[in-house]
Amino acid sequence: MTKLQVPFFRPDIGEREIDEVVATVRSGWLTTGPKVKSFEEGFRAAVNARCALAVNSCTAALHLALEALGVKAGDAVLVPTMTFAATAEVVRYQGATPVLVDCDPFDLNMDLADAAMKLEQLASGGLPANLGEGLVPRGITPVHVGGMMMDIGAAQEFASGRGLWMVEDAAHAFPAAWRRSPADPWRQCGEATATITCFSFYANKTITTGEGGMIVTNDGRLAERMRLMALHGLSADAWSRYAGTGSWDYKIVAPGYKYNLTDLAAAIGIHQLARAEQMRQRREQIARRYFEAFADLYELELPPDNADRLHAWHLFPVKLRLDALSIDRAEFIRELHAAGIGTSVHWRPLHLHPYYQEVFGWRPEEFPVATSVWERLVSLPIFSAMRDEEVAAVVEAVSTLCARHARTAVAVGQDSPDRSLRVPSLEPVS
Ligand SMILES: *Cc1c(COP(=O)(O)O)cnc(C)c1O
Repeated sequence: MTKLQVPFFRPDIGEREIDEVVATVRSGWLTTGPKVKSFEEGFRAAVNARCALAVNSCTAALHLALEALGVKAGDAVLVPTMTFAATAEVVRYQGATPVLVDCDPFDLNMDLADAAMKLEQLASGGLPANLGEGLVPRGITPVHVGGMMMDIGAAQEFASGRGLWMVEDAAHAFPAAWRRSPADPWRQCGEATATITCFSFYANKTITTGEGGMIVTNDGRLAERMRLMALHGLSADAWSRYAGTGSWDYKIVAPGYKYNLTDLAAAIGIHQLARAEQMRQRREQIARRYFEAFADLYELELPPDNADRLHAWHLFPVKLRLDALSIDRAEFIRELHAAGIGTSVHWRPLHLHPYYQEVFGWRPEEFPVATSVWERLVSLPIFSAMRDEEVAAVVEAVSTLCARHARTAVAVGQDSPDRSLRVPSLEPVS
């Protein structure tokens, strides 16, 4: 019998998505048109925002957001070091400087205390000289790592108290919601949670259009600028050329970009959007199964699940307790792979990449939490198309691996049924 292979991710594409794509191809209208308009309207309503603009990636969304906010050379933007390339590179597109910020050790979201410290250091000349002189802080771009929103109330207070705008990289956070306390109503990610919120529909995100993204904002002026720049800087009425209702004439009013979403992609998105909460619930069910199965594994630290968050469960990142294991993260991943289980790591922090190290001179000790925690990170498969037997295979493989490589002696485990009493550093190291 061949062993069940569980991929890290498999998209959840139904017959409705396929039929809509086929109908779109047959319609003869392939690029931006009625399907995009309908997708934008549906998404806007889903997150209770005033304006929504569909684009061809979350990276494009983030870039348009910073452009519309006037980010330029000499500006500093606070960017979490624990993120994907896109969040920081768009700051560089505008010639501005990303000032990296350490993460919280539990949820891996941006640590606002470190953000405050980095701003003080920026003012007092305590940051690497390569960052440049006289940088002016303008904004903050938090990421909701794995789909669990950071404390957005605290982030808003941090930003508004310092005159900073906030652009959310919500690539993992649809659908996700936040509330200050159980007494308060839920607020969707994108429902006035930031000046501008950017979502991703990349192939492995919570909903997908293959490649795609969405920008939402309540600021009509910013929305207008982003719509203009998303299509070559052509005056607003030029979009109607794409809708087939425009005139032959158009005006270039700025050197814009080519970031529009196609109707082919939106055809998938419309049906993914309709199933988004149902797919989230399936991921939540898988997360519950993992919590249950791994509760007694001392070798793993499980991700936090805050009662005041509606978690998108894009990722299920576990942290290995390396002092309790006789193998490192690379070997853990290798053995899981050999057992047929796909994994990933989110992420090698930005300050440990050659570009940010060499060009800006960041040192690992400036981000003590991210530097140490990333060595322990492994993301397990969690996706709505995952079958029960696949979830069971992950549970089995991870449990077996932890048992095989646990450093804590069995005798001690028996002496101390309360596993929190097991102190691995006191155990003989084999
Ligand atoms: C995937 C991702 C992006 C980029 O999304 P694209 O749609 O591929 O451009 C940005 N930020 C984070 C945190 C991501 O995970």
